[in-house]
Amino acid sequence: MGKEILCGVVPAIFIFLLFLGVNITPFVVFAAVLTAIYFLVVRQGQGNQLALGGKKKNSKHAVPKSTIQFADIGGQERAKKELKEALDFLVYKDKIEQYGIRPIKGVLLTGPPGTGKTLMAKAAANYTNSAFVAASGSQFVEMYVGVGAQRIRDLFKEVKTLAEKNGQDSGIIFIDEIEVIGGKRDGQQQREYDQTLNQLLTEMDGITTSDKPRILVMAATNRKDMLDSALLRPGRFDRHITVDLPDKSAREQILTIHTANKPLADDVSLEKVAQETFGFSGAQLESVANEAAIYAMRENSEKIEARHFAFAVDKVMLGEKVDREASFEEKKRVALHELGHAIMSEIARPGSVSQVTLSPRGKALGYVRQNPLEDRYLYTKEALEKQIMVCLAGAVAEEIYYGGRSTGSKNDFEQALDMAQEIVQSGMSRLGIVHLQYADKTQIHEEVNRLLEDLLEETRVLLRQYDVVFQTGVSTLLEAEVLQGDEFRELMARVKQAEELVG
Ligand code: ATP
Repeated sequence: MGKEILCGVVPAIFIFLLFLGVNITPFVVFAAVLTAIYFLVVRQGQGNQLALGGKKKNSKHAVPKSTIQFADIGGQERAKKELKEALDFLVYKDKIEQYGIRPIKGVLLTGPPGTGKTLMAKAAANYTNSAFVAASGSQFVEMYVGVGAQRIRDLFKEVKTLAEKNGQDSGIIFIDEIEVIGGKRDGQQQREYDQTLNQLLTEMDGITTSDKPRILVMAATNRKDMLDSALLRPGRFDRHITVDLPDKSAREQILTIHTANKPLADDVSLEKVAQETFGFSGAQLESVANEAAIYAMRENSEKIEARHFAFAVDKVMLGEKVDREASFEEKKRVALHELGHAIMSEIARPGSVSQVTLSPRGKALGYVRQNPLEDRYLYTKEALEKQIMVCLAGAVAEEIYYGGRSTGSKNDFEQALDMAQEIVQSGMSRLGIVHLQYADKTQIHEEVNRLLEDLLEETRVLLRQYDVVFQTGVSTLLEAEVLQGDEFRELMARVKQAEELVG
């Protein structure tokens, strides 16, 4: 407040002196020097205080007490079991001492984003009645040398103080994104991160069985391959727990947890939603439950219905509906493209198309919604080839009706390329088993291209037989924007009947 008054009063005095005809130049110079000194000394001092772990920014790693228990984490049964076993070392400390076992000092949680690693750490703190402080690797990255190391020291001090204050026997320090400070050291250049990492290792080495409170460091990363081996050796982060994407039953459990406080209509089957969300993380499933509730609220619907969940899954998968108004020609091209995917999908897996839609969502101008498959972790060559053909079919349809492709197929080609590479790398191509390190890159590239060219040709031959479906489908889509799976299958059946008549 004082600063604001000063900013108003000083110019006013200068104007007044000027008005009286006084030469104000010396005053202005003096004021400028004072301001410069203020910024150089006072602000710099504040900066250092922040950077050097001064009270302002740094002492607040304590996380508001959370009530998360292991029961609030859906699925992850194996990870929870392994973590609980590791935590028993904190809980049954007398026994550990009796057997002369060295304490577990660090637990590393690895897995994709949003799978519940932070939840696990919070649940661990409640399970063991420990004080809990958390920080993220990126918070240690500073331009001031030595600040990161100071912050590590502060973190250990803070957890001890917090545990003492709460009368707890143990404390858990959680460091998210550990790869930021724990990346591999090349041994040549001394980086600021190295000091931070060294400090963490020193602090961890200092943890003993008789410490009061007992400290456990938990860290999370989705890039374990990047971590320095010094972090992973026995006595440091020697318990590695994988927190993976949830399988179908875990997805259902997560959805159950996140819909427990929501009014669900009778037609909602969380099992079906779980089936439709293969590859979703816990965080995405939480978002599906939340978005479904938002759709229901917007419609003033008393309960959340199955269709709200269908909208929510589409939104989380593809992004929000957008108002981008495409031209008639563009819409027609997109309709043909999507029908290409849908026809090929039905040929590859009858009954697989749930809906073809011609409304822009996220980056897509249209999309085909497929009926869910069982979770699959293994693919044969034939299964991969069929999926590649489904991906290529959009571009093939454009070629048939427009004589060329458009940028709309870029994403499809990326997926098709990934799968073709999978075929080659899994030893299912003409090249046999290949060692990627020694194999000739051009040879692999040629094999992937040959695979794709063959499948493109096969897709062309198949799609040309479905002109009736393309023609009728396009008019329906341009008019109604949506073609339901059953309607679509009827169209496909007409072609089959006509073929039989001719045959
Ligand atoms: P990141 O690697 O991005 O830090 P993370 O693995 O630490 O992610 P969390 O922060 O633990 O993920 O999870 C984010 C949110 O996702 C949670 O707050 C919760 O709502 C939901 N979530 C994730 N996994 C689960 C799960 N297994 N059960 C219930 N909710 C979950």
